[in-house]
Amino acid sequence: MAEQKRDYYEVLGVDKSADEETIKKAYRKLAKKYHPDMNPGDKNAEAKFKEASEAYAVLSDPKKRQQYDQFGHAAFDGGAGGGGFDFNNVDFSDIFGDFGGFGSVFSDFFGGGSQGRRAANNGPQRGADVRTAVRVSFREACFGCEKEIELTLKDPCPTCHGSGCKPGTSKSTCTKCGGSGQVVSTERSIFGMVTRSSVCPDCGGSGFIIKDKCPDCRGTGFKPQKKKILVAIPAGIDDGQMVRLRGKGDPGANNGPRGDLLVEVRVVRNNEFQRNGYDIYSTHPISFAQAALGSKIIINTIDGKVEYEVKAGTQPGTRIRLRGKGVPTIRNKDVRGDHYVTLDVQVPRSLTAPQKEALKAFDDACGGSLSPQPSPKKGKGPFGRRK
Ligand SMILES: [Zn+2]
Ligand SMILES: [Zn+2]
Repeated sequence: MAEQKRDYYEVLGVDKSADEETIKKAYRKLAKKYHPDMNPGDKNAEAKFKEASEAYAVLSDPKKRQQYDQFGHAAFDGGAGGGGFDFNNVDFSDIFGDFGGFGSVFSDFFGGGSQGRRAANNGPQRGADVRTAVRVSFREACFGCEKEIELTLKDPCPTCHGSGCKPGTSKSTCTKCGGSGQVVSTERSIFGMVTRSSVCPDCGGSGFIIKDKCPDCRGTGFKPQKKKILVAIPAGIDDGQMVRLRGKGDPGANNGPRGDLLVEVRVVRNNEFQRNGYDIYSTHPISFAQAALGSKIIINTIDGKVEYEVKAGTQPGTRIRLRGKGVPTIRNKDVRGDHYVTLDVQVPRSLTAPQKEALKAFDDACGGSLSPQPSPKKGKGPFGRRK
């Protein structure tokens, strides 16, 4: 069975060292080209499609890929009754997301049951994830905080305890699907007769019919409840990142576990500090005298005020680094980014008479750039020309 098989890398046309993304791209391209829907009745395309799908199933799975690299096709011989290839654990969903309804064709096609959405819906199901957002200040994002948020979540209905039935009554098994939640239809296709299963239209996949609905929840089994939830925002979180609270989402059907609550963190803009990754950027004004003579200055950081010694002769736009004064990293709050401060040398907008005198005297001492120059050829610089 295995001797005529082409090398999987060759099938996908990728290098042996190709990364996951490259493999996925290569497969997607082939799958679209040879997709059965695009090539009705073309046996060659069908074979190519199968071949590429099998290659992808192996190479997209790091464990299988490693086995294949080591043992070649022999790694998968004798599995699943020979010849049959096990597609059970392969996730094609992100590949075929743009092919409507392809999942079921795929599983019928290979005779394997690609799981995914086929599971009967009458068992416990995980509840839906709920999304919300919370605003925090720049400092709160840096150092972490706790925020109480209020939102409406579903809770199991207290009257029917989540069953959706009027008290004293119970669900009956759906007669259309016999409780499986799925209806199976058989259609002719290029592969012969193909069976497709879809969600039962009568019971919506639950497998049950509620004849007498609970008046409290109108048969849904759930009731919306306003809740206050305390969210721990970790230090170092950045704008747009999510905090996941497991089991705080909507409850699942048939006593399934609750989904998660996903809280998007929105960091309010700060006028003083900008953030890039874990580094902070800010600007600090210094006077011309401070820049020229050097001076101690006090800089605002997220830790509070920090003293810094400006060197004599500091130029406008000089950027200094305060090591470890940036944002704590989300993994380890003791590891922090840096804080970069641009020194903005200020030119006074208005001067008093004595200040003007002092500056003129300074200019004279520098060679007098202020008095009209007979010839601009040498003494043009504002200050500091040699005599
Ligand atoms: Zn109820
Ligand atoms: Zn049904």
